[in-house]
Amino acid sequence: MSLQAFLARRVITPEGIRPAAVLVEGERIQAIVSPDQVPAHGCRIHDFGEAAILPGLVDSHVHINDPGRAEWEGFETATRAAAAGGYTLLVDMPLNCLPATTTVAGLEAKRAAAQGKCRVDWAAWGGVVHDNQNHIEALAAAGVLGFKCFLVNPGVDSFTMVTEQQLLAALPHVARTGLPLLVHAELPNPIDRATDALADADWSFYSAYLQSRPDEAELAAIRLMLSLCREYGFRLHIVHLSTSQALPELRSARSDGLAVSVETCPHYLHLSAETITNGATLSKCAPPIRSRENCERLWQGLGAGTIDMVVTDHSPCPPAMKRLTEGNFRTAWGGIAGLSVALPLMWTEASRRGFTLLDLARWMAAAPARLAGCDSHKGRIAVGSDADFVVFEPDREFIVTEDKLHYRHPVSPYLGGRLRGVVKATYLRGNPVFVGGEFPGEPGGREFAAKPHRQSTL
Ligand SMILES: [Zn+2]
Repeated sequence: MSLQAFLARRVITPEGIRPAAVLVEGERIQAIVSPDQVPAHGCRIHDFGEAAILPGLVDSHVHINDPGRAEWEGFETATRAAAAGGYTLLVDMPLNCLPATTTVAGLEAKRAAAQGKCRVDWAAWGGVVHDNQNHIEALAAAGVLGFKCFLVNPGVDSFTMVTEQQLLAALPHVARTGLPLLVHAELPNPIDRATDALADADWSFYSAYLQSRPDEAELAAIRLMLSLCREYGFRLHIVHLSTSQALPELRSARSDGLAVSVETCPHYLHLSAETITNGATLSKCAPPIRSRENCERLWQGLGAGTIDMVVTDHSPCPPAMKRLTEGNFRTAWGGIAGLSVALPLMWTEASRRGFTLLDLARWMAAAPARLAGCDSHKGRIAVGSDADFVVFEPDREFIVTEDKLHYRHPVSPYLGGRLRGVVKATYLRGNPVFVGGEFPGEPGGREFAAKPHRQSTL
């Protein structure tokens, strides 16, 4: 097998940031040595100088929408945007695609759709919906990495929310798989009450949308899930936390030893309600982007470790569904595409708050890999791991333009913004998948499938 050495002044390993050479044999990291220990012969050297080498990022929250809604996104375009953004593994959400990933047949349809199209590795979450309790363990055996459910209507007909009763029927099955349950934590009642009170509101105002999805909807859902987690002993993961008001309860649940993890997304950490102009529906997502003060508290939650990870919730749609002409926050699709710019967005915000590339590697690679149960292969620069790297120039800046987005529909609330940090190259298992704006070679990404009945701990 061919030996390669990846050198830089800043290599981000779990132990720290240092000048190093990462030696790669075939697809795996063989050793991490000091730059002067690179073998003189028989080794292909990539010297990235002052750039940083981070582990390939892992995004455990992506809506690829394929098969069935590939006109929204698709494996080809999502994995291309991922490679450009420094991601080497995406875990796909089970809704939006047709069929949804709620049965083994649905998972097989997804595998067929992904065949030969992926520039980075991928894996699947299975869905828990109102009536598929008896498919849960079969899905685990067939290779999903965990499950996702909604406590509120997800906005697509093909995937149903679960009521508390329906969830109770599913939980023993989920607990037996040992896999995590990812929960969209908002309850319908507080949203319905708030929306009824807005009957005469002007929905081109962001404030109307924000009021329609109050903090209380998230808080009540998180309380419910924490109590079910205590009772049923499954592994709970809260997706896209938006309200900082839930942080104290999450912190105390964790200190009680409950198996709960938490994610938030770059848009909650970069945008705030005060910055969203009326009619700017590109910034609509659920739960909503809240106040600037809330945003700062989320950063504090990240710093304190109450929030484990930052994932994109990349959720594109055809631009018409964003209702850009009428700017109506009520009817616009809720979702923000973020794969290709998440790392610079995060670096822009993190660096000015005193965080380092080590923090980014933990939030955007190691922690999502652990959630997905693939941390023995992905998410860190360590001996035995896949040779997945992102070469990042932290001191350069750029303006977000359409040609840098690479997903199917180049719309984004970030267009025109100046961001810090440029992804120079991405390597998947030792091979370049993105270099200076180009995508060399044929799509070589493959599925990362879990071992059945894996038991894991946080
Ligand atoms: Zn999502």
